Amino acid sequence: MRRVVCLGVVTMIGVLATVVANVAQEPAEEPRANLVLHEVAHNLYMLANDPAEQGMRSGGNTAVFLTDSGVALVDTKIYGYGQDILAEIAKITPKPVTTIINTHTHYDHSGGNVEFSDTVNIVVHENTAAQMSRETCEPVTNCDAFKGDNAVYLPKTTFSDRMTLFDGPDSVDLYYFGRGHTDGDTWIVFRNARTLHTGDMFARKGLPFLDVANGNGSALEFGETLRKAVDGIPDVDIIIPGHNDETLVWDDLVNYSTFYNGIVDAAKAGQAAGQSVEDVVGSYAVPIELRDFNAEPGRLQSVVQYVFDGQ
Ligand SMILES: [Zn+2]
Repeated sequence: MRRVVCLGVVTMIGVLATVVANVAQEPAEEPRANLVLHEVAHNLYMLANDPAEQGMRSGGNTAVFLTDSGVALVDTKIYGYGQDILAEIAKITPKPVTTIINTHTHYDHSGGNVEFSDTVNIVVHENTAAQMSRETCEPVTNCDAFKGDNAVYLPKTTFSDRMTLFDGPDSVDLYYFGRGHTDGDTWIVFRNARTLHTGDMFARKGLPFLDVANGNGSALEFGETLRKAVDGIPDVDIIIPGHNDETLVWDDLVNYSTFYNGIVDAAKAGQAAGQSVEDVVGSYAVPIELRDFNAEPGRLQSVVQYVFDGQ
């Protein structure tokens, strides 16, 4: 009997210790990612992630462009990194942020928008404005960030095909070439710096995440849109990619279009020949001249599947 009681007391102490431990434990915090500032031209910077850290980190690459009238940003990373972006800007200029261009709606590119002054001019493609003002959406689309009082952060400047912001050496050209990663991907050229921010139409030298399910993206049109961008954007030397930790160069974008469209063509040819998605994936190899591009198996499978499905 005594033995049973003793065991009961020990068990109770164990339960209490567990409860106390749970109460004392703070919710697990995401580790803070470091930001790394790269000078691209005398008035243009890429605010990127630390290559020593893994995963999504702070989100997509931010361009910081110093104009006569203020600072223009392309993309604002994940919500919570707005103050980090401002701290990095303060190291290079006292000018305020006056313009934010979002390459597309995703939370890791527009998350910080609401952390800036609500007087900032937010500029996006008209389809991205529609995504941001949706009634409901999956978290990746980030529409919940712009509800209630935060509706003041919904973009007031939109365009459909092409638009130029600022004048003279500050000129920034915005292009839209069609669906791809989402249905509202903007290509942004800093004319004087001969530099292009591609957003997630060229995130890195690997296959893209295609937001077909929520963002109305398209695997088939992704390839056509890449071709139109390569043909339609003049005078670019440097690429600020969506997520790559370093800048890339124009030829990388040209090769990316060849790489991606080669997979679309292989999928179409395989389907026409009666092959399965697995057959096409199993027989695909990255061409030797494009070997710096990575065809990650999961991404390859989904690109080929979407092409088979006509999406
Ligand atoms: Zn994205």
